[in-house]
Amino acid sequence: MDLITIYTGVIKVKSIEFFYRIMDRNKFDVVIVGGGVIGLFCAYYLNLQGKSVLVLEKGEIMKSCSYGNCGLISPSHAFPLNSPQLLLKAAKWVFQKDSPFYVRPQWDKEFLSWMFDFAKISLTKNQRVKSMHGRHGLLTSSRDLYGELLADSNWNCNWSPSGIHFVFHKRKCFEEYAKKDDILKILGVAAQPLISSELHDMEPSLTEYAYGSWYYPMDASLNPGELLMELSTKLRERGVQIIENSPVEGWLESNGGLFGVQLADSEYLADNVVLATGSVSPKMVENLKLTLPVIPGKGYSITMKSPNVQPKCPIIFDEHKVVATPWKDSYRLGGTMEFSGHDSSFNPHRIENLKTVASKYLKEPYSQEHVSNWFGWRPMTPDGLPIIDRSPRHSNLFLACGHNMLGLSMAPATGKMISELIDGQVCHIDPQPYSLN
Ligand SMILES: Cc1cc2nc3c(=O)[nH]c(=O)nc-3n(C[C@H](O)[C@H](O)[C@H](O)COP(=O)(O)OP(=O)(O)OC[C@H]3O[C@@H](n4cnc5c(N)ncnc54)[C@H](O)[C@@H]3O)c2cc1C
Repeated sequence: MDLITIYTGVIKVKSIEFFYRIMDRNKFDVVIVGGGVIGLFCAYYLNLQGKSVLVLEKGEIMKSCSYGNCGLISPSHAFPLNSPQLLLKAAKWVFQKDSPFYVRPQWDKEFLSWMFDFAKISLTKNQRVKSMHGRHGLLTSSRDLYGELLADSNWNCNWSPSGIHFVFHKRKCFEEYAKKDDILKILGVAAQPLISSELHDMEPSLTEYAYGSWYYPMDASLNPGELLMELSTKLRERGVQIIENSPVEGWLESNGGLFGVQLADSEYLADNVVLATGSVSPKMVENLKLTLPVIPGKGYSITMKSPNVQPKCPIIFDEHKVVATPWKDSYRLGGTMEFSGHDSSFNPHRIENLKTVASKYLKEPYSQEHVSNWFGWRPMTPDGLPIIDRSPRHSNLFLACGHNMLGLSMAPATGKMISELIDGQVCHIDPQPYSLN
């Protein structure tokens, strides 16, 4: 051990790397840190390339943010959250107890700098357009990849390529949305506007409170918990090692690169390391002197047995940012965005608010057979784009984090792109928008 200097989690190596390499103990082509949907899809595409892969997960896969989300696979979400209108609305929402958006004032440098960048991008059209194109690339590629993958009936995850409704109560809001749809149309993601009997015939679960819907047939949905279960089972069958309850605590670092990861009482060697740790990613790389602009955005969901009259496909109640997702035997309401750090307290008002919103729009908004209340931390970046890149400081560390509200929708293309970057191939979509810089 005298050959190693340990400081704040990083192990600086002098000649111990050589020793480990000779031992070839616990060595993999790629070690992935984080077993959420992003880490697992990276493992999937790296395994297809024939690489030996190890996934290390701090807790349990079924407890990640990727587990309890709303299950939407939505190319329709190309627009980033940033907009001048959102800034105005957010200023009002901050003082409203049941609002879909909450910011707890925090005075640390990372949070303030993130908020400043978010506001700046909200007011800069060019930046918003750039984000939109970047998001669109990943969303449409992932939608295609899901379609190919899940057409195989061996995947048991409630895959439903039946579209998504964006439902509005106020006629004015419904009509204003047409401007967004016009832009999405140019990107090839067109919606069908539906009002009156056309809407209610197509979606009989809605009440008259729903004025109109923009229906995106290209969108899809699945049950994210079932997807994680299927994916991890299939990966294990193909020889990928997935070890849960194994937090990575530090890095084995050599000149300009990493050669493995450190756990409490073991280490694993790797030719390449992928960081897929969602909202905690900045903390993970602090010791490597990397700064990642990612903060947690807390969201809630409630899952129950299916009500008797449930929607035929997912519905977004756009003015309230609440989603209702139906599956074969269960049903989920989800939403809200709290910027309150990694605060793990559970706010029951948020769950009540999901039910209150659903009660306005749906004839049977929820069932009494409750399954679970849940919250998770979305990994939010100020421009709405994820970071999919080689670390600027370490040639064999790859970053796959910051997927905002769309990690599930962007996961297959992210995994594919990471496998292409590691393999030195030309990426199937332009990687530039996702670069850390
Ligand atoms: C209410 C809600 C609804 C949402 N709805 C949708 C939706 O409909 N569609 C959509 O596309 N997206 C949705 N999202 C967003 C989506 O859930 C996230 O973008 C996605 O889960 C991020 O995936 P990830 O793999 O990057 O992070 P995570 O799922 O958070 O996974 C990261 C993993 O890294 C592990 N980890 C952390 N530290 C370590 C360590 N030291 N060592 C090892 N492992 C570590 C964590 O335990 C965790 O399991 C929603 C989110 C919320 C909260």
